[in-house]
Amino acid sequence: MVEQQIASRGVVDTGVLRAMREVPRECFVPEAMLEFAYEDSPLPIEEGQTISQPYIVAVMAEALGLSAEDRVLEIGAGSGYAAAVLSRMVREVYAIERHPLLAELARQRVKDLDYGNVEVLCGDGTLGWAEHAPFDAIVVAAGGPEIPKSLLEQLEIGGRLVIPVGDDARFQELVRIERAGEHEYSRRSLGRVRFVPLIGSEGWSLDGMPVAPRRARTPLQVVPEKRRRLSNLIARNCEPFESIESANLEALMRRIGDARVVLIGEASHGTSEFYRMRARITRELIAELGFNVVAIEGDYPDTSVIDRAIRGRKRTELRTPPFSRFPTWMWHNEEMEAFVRWARTHNVKVPAPERQVSLHGLDLYSLYNSIGAVLDFLDEVDPEAAASARVRYGCFSPWETDPATYGRAAVSGRLRDCEEDVVKTLSDLLEKRVKYALVDGDEIFDVERNATVIREAERYYRVMYYGNHESWNLRDRHMFETLKAVLEHRGPQSRAVVWAHNSHVGNAAATEMGMRGEFNIGQLAREEWGPDSYRIGFGTHCGKVAAASNWDEPVTLMTVRPSHEDSYERLCHETEIPAFLLPLRSAAETGLREELLSPHLERAIGVIYRPETEMLSHYFQAALPAQFDEFIWFDTSAAVTPIQSEKGSGVPDTYPFGL
Ligand code: SAH
Repeated sequence: MVEQQIASRGVVDTGVLRAMREVPRECFVPEAMLEFAYEDSPLPIEEGQTISQPYIVAVMAEALGLSAEDRVLEIGAGSGYAAAVLSRMVREVYAIERHPLLAELARQRVKDLDYGNVEVLCGDGTLGWAEHAPFDAIVVAAGGPEIPKSLLEQLEIGGRLVIPVGDDARFQELVRIERAGEHEYSRRSLGRVRFVPLIGSEGWSLDGMPVAPRRARTPLQVVPEKRRRLSNLIARNCEPFESIESANLEALMRRIGDARVVLIGEASHGTSEFYRMRARITRELIAELGFNVVAIEGDYPDTSVIDRAIRGRKRTELRTPPFSRFPTWMWHNEEMEAFVRWARTHNVKVPAPERQVSLHGLDLYSLYNSIGAVLDFLDEVDPEAAASARVRYGCFSPWETDPATYGRAAVSGRLRDCEEDVVKTLSDLLEKRVKYALVDGDEIFDVERNATVIREAERYYRVMYYGNHESWNLRDRHMFETLKAVLEHRGPQSRAVVWAHNSHVGNAAATEMGMRGEFNIGQLAREEWGPDSYRIGFGTHCGKVAAASNWDEPVTLMTVRPSHEDSYERLCHETEIPAFLLPLRSAAETGLREELLSPHLERAIGVIYRPETEMLSHYFQAALPAQFDEFIWFDTSAAVTPIQSEKGSGVPDTYPFGL
């Protein structure tokens, strides 16, 4: 539970993780729910109430920023589970529950476990517990119409309060309040959540109406002046443009200068403006600065099909049509097609092979197409080696459709893993490089990359089983190594543009990812090439995006929610400039960089978008100017246009773009 549901989703506080490991959740659920005690969800308990989802308990505990000497008040003890978890981290826990039966059960459970530092009271928690106040931290496990004044007053200066609030009794915003002074409170949102109602004299009445008269929230609002100052700074430093095609990119080209690698991100995998602006900049880099490599967050063999088309190389066929696995729309879309057509025309005009632009996939999800590509190559040039590679790769054949299951089976020890086989095949290939050198150099390069993908994918699916930062790092390390190999292959003058999500190209060390122990291509590129690598990020306030609700589900057109008020996106939105470039490396006014460095939220939409849990699933903390050298803004954005895939038989060999 702790590894898979909590740590893997970004809870890092070791005190919280330790406490969650220690407290047996099964002691807090009704008998009938026992078998579900470690499920990733809230569960019904007595009196029609619920025991919270373990992850939410952890998020709230982490947000409280607890230390061992703290005294904590919990409102809505329910089963007593959260109180028990908190009691493992602090000196004293006071918990209030309005249902007498629940209060009694909770008291009994903590007693049975010998947790002596928990006191449970039956009563109305919206009034707090004056006798033991002030508290270092207060947590409320039920949603009220507003923040009870009594709780604010019973908070120690420097104390933290975490509470779900909102007008709608069904959904609330999880809010973290910190008491900065006698009358000073700061407020931060932690996302949308769903709790049972907080019923009491400063909460909802039993008929669902707020009991307390609504008070103005003035003392709790985020200081708007600071936001106004920051968005004014952005407005003064940015370079607005009217349209993607007419944007003047001269200054950007100067800023990029001699950089060997330019990494261009995207804040979603389905926004048209990001694709088109990225293509516009890339065309300029190729035509004006002589860039000759485009490396994308796509599969190697699939991308190689396009590379063959734009450079007039020999065609090949894959086991499954290129870009036909989920998420198909990520590369099989009209925006990509337009760029590919441009690249082909460019290459026809530039006959010198080293100046032609090549296209490469950095990712490692192509186990079967890569195996097919290696075998096809060997069948042609070295039938004997093909036969032994076939036997070795046969190790994977039971898992063809589901390599993740291979990973699980290999880790469980119920199966011999395929590591040795894939490592051996690759080293055989590398050894015979000289012999194969009679074949076209691009062909040898492709086959070596495919054999490397297979080796890395084999490890990836095993490591993925543990669900921590290792699998992310393995994938980004692989993408980075592929990029370096491509640069070397294209010669000493080569220069590359990388197209991948913001989360891969923005320096991970400047975001929450760094705290979780994750690195990415952007960070590795910075370590490798220093200022000769240039990172560009994208952002948007609202609009439409092409995304799916769950993995393997069809792509749909979704509405992007307006950006969060504590986010960088909101600051950009408040400039009221529809589209701009924002140089961050050497901002005209030095104040901009320093001011923007103080962390804000930033939104990341991937192939999955879940607006209902946007705050928890899509926002993270970042320091923008340390993450990117440049940020490009589109206030309103539209979705990419997927190309309907021609499934099944009859896929033309010019798929995916009819080149
Ligand atoms: N922390 C609990 C979650 C319980 S659900 C756990 O880990 O199991 C929220 C609880 O808040 C319910 O049991 C409900 O009865 C209680 N509650 C609602 N309004 C309350 C109030 N004003 N005072 C005390 N408890 C309240």
